[in-house]
Amino acid sequence: MNVLKFGGASVKDVEGIRNLHKIIALTPEQELFIVVSAMGKTTNALELVVKSFMANEDWKPLLDAVFANHEAVLKELKNEPDAAHQAIEKIKAYAFAFLEADTDADYDFLYDQIVSLGEILSTKIISDYLISQGIKNDWLDARKLIHTDNNYRAANVDWELTKQRVSSAWEWKKNKVVISQGFIGGGNHNRMTTLGREGSDFSAAIFGYCLDAEAVCIWKDVDGVLNADPKYFNNAELLPNISYREAVELSYYGASVIHPKTIKPLENKEIPLFVKSFLNPQNDGTRINTNTSEDSKIASYIFKEDQVLLSISAKDFSFIVEEHISDIFQRFAKHRMKINTMQNSAISFSVSVDADKSKLQDLVSDLQSDYEVRYNEGLELLTIRHFNEKIAEELPHGKEILLQQKTRHTLRMLMRDQTKSS
Ligand code: ASP
Ligand code: MG
Repeated sequence: MNVLKFGGASVKDVEGIRNLHKIIALTPEQELFIVVSAMGKTTNALELVVKSFMANEDWKPLLDAVFANHEAVLKELKNEPDAAHQAIEKIKAYAFAFLEADTDADYDFLYDQIVSLGEILSTKIISDYLISQGIKNDWLDARKLIHTDNNYRAANVDWELTKQRVSSAWEWKKNKVVISQGFIGGGNHNRMTTLGREGSDFSAAIFGYCLDAEAVCIWKDVDGVLNADPKYFNNAELLPNISYREAVELSYYGASVIHPKTIKPLENKEIPLFVKSFLNPQNDGTRINTNTSEDSKIASYIFKEDQVLLSISAKDFSFIVEEHISDIFQRFAKHRMKINTMQNSAISFSVSVDADKSKLQDLVSDLQSDYEVRYNEGLELLTIRHFNEKIAEELPHGKEILLQQKTRHTLRMLMRDQTKSS
């Protein structure tokens, strides 16, 4: 069996859903586990509902709009009111009743109960549409398959239980094709949970792992894994074959094609992962497997904008020693700030992070109670995997380098673009 994952962009409208059908119809004999994200920007829209609910604003029109969008798509796909329509009505009634009843719930909990509905909606519509096109399928509820703890918005998977549930659901299914949701799971006491934004890739890997899939394929709006983001670099090239290890490194440094948690479960079972274009399904795309021989053939460029460099020193000008560093790390962890690069000198410890404003402010004021903190904003972090000296010399393009780190395969430069005012 194969696992296919379709992200939000691939099913953003009627056109996209018809295209999903075409892709599935390419392999009529194949047993498929299909994982689908919420349509288009639905997750963002549901996030806004929760935010406005928490802020005591008028959330109802926002929630109404989400359902109206889905009804409109369904209507264009199929002209008779039917199973999916009824399902949408039921979900709508649940969502309204839930928010109207719950007045003092915790944000993360509420978030998961509402935001997870995006995937339920998209899969109800797609499952129903596929049946109307002659592709019988089982709609499976990922909340009953992927068992997690109740760490809302970043739930942790209970692999043992999940494996049992997924295997038994697969054994009892009636059809060759199964449709289920990405991103969502079920925690204790029947609570809905989510695995973190963009978590549907990870869901696909979980299902693939549990079912010993032949392969997992992620369908994207790009040709595969590219060596650079075309938004920042002309001439981005496709990486036809990379190893699991390389894929993990690229996503760790910030390449956003695959969710970072996706690779490890697949690597453990040596299940190949394909990343292919839903616009050009006949193309090969990228294959990720154990083969490392092509990893260093093409240099990859990962660019992160909006970086902040914090230089932290002791208030009494004493040396930065292990006790300081350990204390500083604890504060980063407490504020859930991910460190992108770090470097120490005698009197200061420098760290670059994403400019996540609210978290950053809290962290900085926490640090300032015991340290001197200087910071530089508006920086860019460029990571180059498999660089050569020529690239290293040319790439700063006259930008000021504030911090540079070189290992055998990886060059990282934190830079200021002087042409931009900062
Ligand atoms: N729908 C979720 C999100 O937008 C999960 C995903 O797309 O992978 O984050
Ligand atoms: Mg998505």
